[in-house]
Amino acid sequence: MKKLYVLAALLCGSFALPSQAQGLFEKHQRTLTLPGGYVCYRTAESIKIDGKLKENSWNLAQPTASFVDISGEGFAKPIYDTRAKMLWDDNYLYVSAVLEEKDIVARLTQRDTIIYHDNDFEVFIDPDGDGHHYFEIENNAREVVFDLMLDRPYRSGGNFMIQWDCPGLKLAVDMKGTLNKSKDTDKQWTVEMAIPHKALTINFTNPLKAGNYWRINFSRVQWLKKGGPEENWVWQPTGKIDMHMPDRWGFLYFSDKTVGQGTDVFKYPYNMAAYKLLWAMFYEQQAYHANHQNYIRTIEHFFLTDAEYKNLPADAKLAIEATANTYIMSIALPSEGVRYTLNQEGRFGVEKIAPRLVKNWMWLRIKKNQSDEEYAKQFNMMKDCGISGVMFEGYDERVYKLCHEAGLEAHYWKWTMNRGEVRETHPEWFAVNKKGESCFDKPAYVDYYRFLCPYHEGVAEYLAADYVRIANLPYVDGVHLDYARFPDVVLPVSLWKNYGIEQTQELPEYDYCYCDVCRKKYKDMYGKDPMELKYPMQSQSWVNFRLDGITHVIDAITKALKADGKRVSSAVFPGPSMAKQMVRQDWGNWHLDAYFPMIYNGFYYERPEWIGRSVKESVQTINGKAEVYAGLFFPSIKDHFEEALDAAYENGASGISFFDGPNEECLKALKAYLVKKGYQIKK
Ligand SMILES: [Zn+2]
Repeated sequence: MKKLYVLAALLCGSFALPSQAQGLFEKHQRTLTLPGGYVCYRTAESIKIDGKLKENSWNLAQPTASFVDISGEGFAKPIYDTRAKMLWDDNYLYVSAVLEEKDIVARLTQRDTIIYHDNDFEVFIDPDGDGHHYFEIENNAREVVFDLMLDRPYRSGGNFMIQWDCPGLKLAVDMKGTLNKSKDTDKQWTVEMAIPHKALTINFTNPLKAGNYWRINFSRVQWLKKGGPEENWVWQPTGKIDMHMPDRWGFLYFSDKTVGQGTDVFKYPYNMAAYKLLWAMFYEQQAYHANHQNYIRTIEHFFLTDAEYKNLPADAKLAIEATANTYIMSIALPSEGVRYTLNQEGRFGVEKIAPRLVKNWMWLRIKKNQSDEEYAKQFNMMKDCGISGVMFEGYDERVYKLCHEAGLEAHYWKWTMNRGEVRETHPEWFAVNKKGESCFDKPAYVDYYRFLCPYHEGVAEYLAADYVRIANLPYVDGVHLDYARFPDVVLPVSLWKNYGIEQTQELPEYDYCYCDVCRKKYKDMYGKDPMELKYPMQSQSWVNFRLDGITHVIDAITKALKADGKRVSSAVFPGPSMAKQMVRQDWGNWHLDAYFPMIYNGFYYERPEWIGRSVKESVQTINGKAEVYAGLFFPSIKDHFEEALDAAYENGASGISFFDGPNEECLKALKAYLVKKGYQIKK
C-alpha cells in the first residue's frame, strides 16, 4: 500500500513539472514572435487597376520584406521571391504583389471555387483587429477570385461565409511570361487590387482613416509538385501552417502623408509586452484544454517566470475569470490608461480605463521670515510635483493666500486635546493620571504635554467653538486635528530610550484620566471607582470609557464644523488598532472627511512593507466613508521612496502626506512616480 502512494505522488508531480520548468514564452515561442508593421501612405494619383503597377505611387511605395515560410524561422526560404505593397485613398485600400514564377499556371475559372488548389495570392484583413469577423480575398493568375468572410478563426470553431462577395472589388493580373505554357520560362506575375472601404465596413468601427491601424497578412500558395504538399509563403509567419491566426498578422498603419512626401516611423498600437503575454496565455490555455478539457483558472497556475514579466510596465495587473468552458483574461496597464482582454475564442479587446485619481499633502510649519517670492516658488513647485494641499501648523493669512494662488488647498492644522493655552482660565480642565498628577502642572514626558480631560464640562464646547472660529478665517479650506487623543500610554518603541523608560505595560504615570469628574462619571455608570481597578488595562469598560471620551469631543467638533459646511480631517495614530492601545484614540468610529494615519515606520522599527499593512487596515476600517491618506515620515522612507509609495497607494490609500520633507529632488521623484503609475491628481 505504501508503495502505491509513492507512485501516485510521483505521477502527480510529473504533471506539474513541465509547465513550471518551461516559461510560456519559451514554450510557445513560434507563435509569439513580434508581428511586423507597414506604414501605408496615400496615393499621389488615381490608380488604374490593370495589374501593370505603372503609377508613380507604386514606384514610391516601399515593398514588404520578401515572403517567408508560414512556420517562420528555421524553415526553408521560398524558392520564388514575393513582395507586396500597399497604398490608400479615401475609398480604397490598394494592394499589389509581385510574384516571381518560372511557370505561370492557373486552371480554375469559377468565382468562389477553392482557388488555392491553384497557385494563388491571398489577402487577409481584420479591420478592427479583434481577431473575429475578418475577410479573405484570394485570386489566381486568371484573375479568378475566391472571397469570403469568417466570423471567427477555425481554431475557435469559426464559420466561413463564401456567399460574401467583396462588393466593388477591382482586381487585375499582369504577367511577364505566358499562362499555362510550361515549355517556356516565365519571369513573374503581378496582382493589383483595390479593396473598397465600403466593402469592409459592415459592423466595423475602425474605418480606413489616417491614424488607424488594421491587421493584414498575405499568403502565396504554391504547388511545387503535383499532389502537394503545397507551400505557404507569407508576409508575417504565423508559426503554424494556419493563416487563420489574426493575432499573428501584420499591423497596417494608415499615414496621412502622400506617398513619397515624407515618412512616418511605424509605432505599435498596443503595449506589445502585454500583447505578447496575453497571447502566450491564450496558447497555453489551448494546450491545457487539449489535455484536460478544462481551462486554467488562476494567474498563479500559468507559472509565469521573469521572462514573461520582465518587459511589462510595473503597474500591470493580470486577471482571469474562467470556467471549464470559457474564460476572459486581461492585462490592465493603468499607467497607459488601457486594459487588454482576450477570451477563449481568441477575441481580443482594448478598453480605456479611467486613471486613478489621488491627492497628496504636506504638513508644513509656517516660516515668518520666508518671503512671498520664496513661498510662491515653493508652492508652485509642490503643485507641479503632485501635491494637492498643505496642512499648516498655525495661521498666517499671507502664506495661506500664496498657497491658494499656487492652486493648493490650505488647511489649518491645530492641536486638539493638547491645549496649554487654557492653564490660566481653566486649570481644572486638565487630565489627571493614575498617580493623581494633572497635566496642568505635571505633564508627562515633555513640558508641552498639556492634555485636557475629554469629559470635563465645557471642554468639548470650547474646542468646537475654537475650530469653527479658525475654519472661518480667510483662505482656510478645512481644519486638521492633531493630538486628538490622550497622552501616550505607550510610546513608539524607538522613543523609549529618549525617555529612559520601558513601556512593556501601562504605567500609572502615563495612564489618564483619573480626574474627579471621570471617576465619578465612571462610577455612576459601572458602580466602581476606576482607582480601585486592580488591572485597569484589562477592564474593557474602563478602556472604552476613555476611547469614548475622545470620540465624544471629536463628534462635538465635527458636528459644529459640518453645521458650518467646513471640512475636517485628523492626523491619527496608525491602525486604528494601534491608536486605541497607544493613545486611546478610536478613530475608526469618528465621522471626519479624511484621516491621515501617521504611519511613521521608522518610529516602530518597521520596514516600508509595514506601511502597506497599516494602510490596508485603515482603509478597511473606514470602508469608503472617508478618505485615508498615508502619513509618511520622510526621513524614514527617503531610502525606500518608491517602495513606501507603492505600499501606500497599492493598499488603497487616497494619497499620501509627507511629514518633515521631502526636498525638491524627492518631490520631483514623486512627480515621476505619479506619471509612471498613471495616477492623476484629483481636483
Ligand atoms: Zn477626566
